[in-house]
Amino acid sequence: MRIGIIGAGQLGQMLGFAARDLDVECIFVDPSDDPPAAVCGEVIQRPFDDPGALAQLAATCDVVTFEFENVPVEALRRIEGRVAIYPPPAALEHSQDRLAEKQLFEELEIPLPGYHVVNTREDIDVAVEAHGMPLVIKTRRLGYDGKGQFVIRGQENIDEAWQKLGGNALIAEQWVPFDYEVSCIGARNGNGDVVIYPLSHNVHEGGILSTSRSPVDVPQLAGTAERYVRTMLSHLDYVGTLALELFVCGDKLLANEFAPRVHNSGHWSIEGSQTSQFENHLRAILNRPLGSTAHVGHAGMVNLIGEIPPAARAIENTYLHEYGKSPRPGRKLGHITVIDESAEARDKFLDTIRHTVTHSPPSTGNTA
Ligand code: AMP
Repeated sequence: MRIGIIGAGQLGQMLGFAARDLDVECIFVDPSDDPPAAVCGEVIQRPFDDPGALAQLAATCDVVTFEFENVPVEALRRIEGRVAIYPPPAALEHSQDRLAEKQLFEELEIPLPGYHVVNTREDIDVAVEAHGMPLVIKTRRLGYDGKGQFVIRGQENIDEAWQKLGGNALIAEQWVPFDYEVSCIGARNGNGDVVIYPLSHNVHEGGILSTSRSPVDVPQLAGTAERYVRTMLSHLDYVGTLALELFVCGDKLLANEFAPRVHNSGHWSIEGSQTSQFENHLRAILNRPLGSTAHVGHAGMVNLIGEIPPAARAIENTYLHEYGKSPRPGRKLGHITVIDESAEARDKFLDTIRHTVTHSPPSTGNTA
């Protein structure tokens, strides 16, 4: 079996490692020099939408998948009749445009924050009137990790928001005073079998995921999130892994966004689940039986962003994953996972790790 993967970043690398265990070969398309997944298979060094590279995947692979959601959909459509592409390009299309994504949530009766389409400076005034302040302005396309966003906190910020983001198709979103954030990850194979991972509790800093922990002891919320993910998987006739990110407000959940792929908030599943999200993604797209998502302990994950300090390598009883990327501020370079016997012990350990990696002296050498 041979899988074509568009994108060879860290998600591609973790898919590649899972593929080895299943005796499946991977070939990647990525324009970067020496991307993380190069350690797992051949990389065709071409743009993600390069017709020749995609034609090569279509001709030589059993199935094609992608590891990030900004793959041009038209490029996938060009090879759609020639090779199976999972997750379906229609799901990708919804996730690429925040308006289409919100319309999908509405259609499926998944609650979401109030929003307003913004095409002109005056539309922001209307949105402020409707939703109050703070108000989050987001680009409809190509935003990730909090990029392409501006929070309007007072009338004086409106012009600045428009200067920074005007000219793009935008959306204004009500500010959600959430208690915390969670994500629910599910996988569905071609037979329609579905598995759902225990809920993750996620903390973001500056729009970037900082920590995830799972399971969390909120059965009612977990049940609701599972219902939403099952509805999405079935409505989209989805094949592969999908992550739904939600805001928790008391006993209510509001959908923030979804990713039609394996997700950073599920990295703990490599050691913390009987079957990782990466293996289940591969099982799903190969239409194999899905693996159990039962947790094997209380898992926590800390992202290593911008720098991997030497102290990160010295913490005992943890699993360190280094992606082999060169350091750069705001860049995800690796993560550390801990598995503990109780939620309390895990949370305490997670705090210690977080403190160690953010308060230790930076390394002087290359972290790759
Ligand atoms: P996003 O790229 O939309 O997932 O946003 C990144 C992070 O910014 C989220 O995980 C939240 O922590 C925060 N955020 C985004 N939208 C809102 C909102 N409407 N209200 C409050 N916080 C938000």
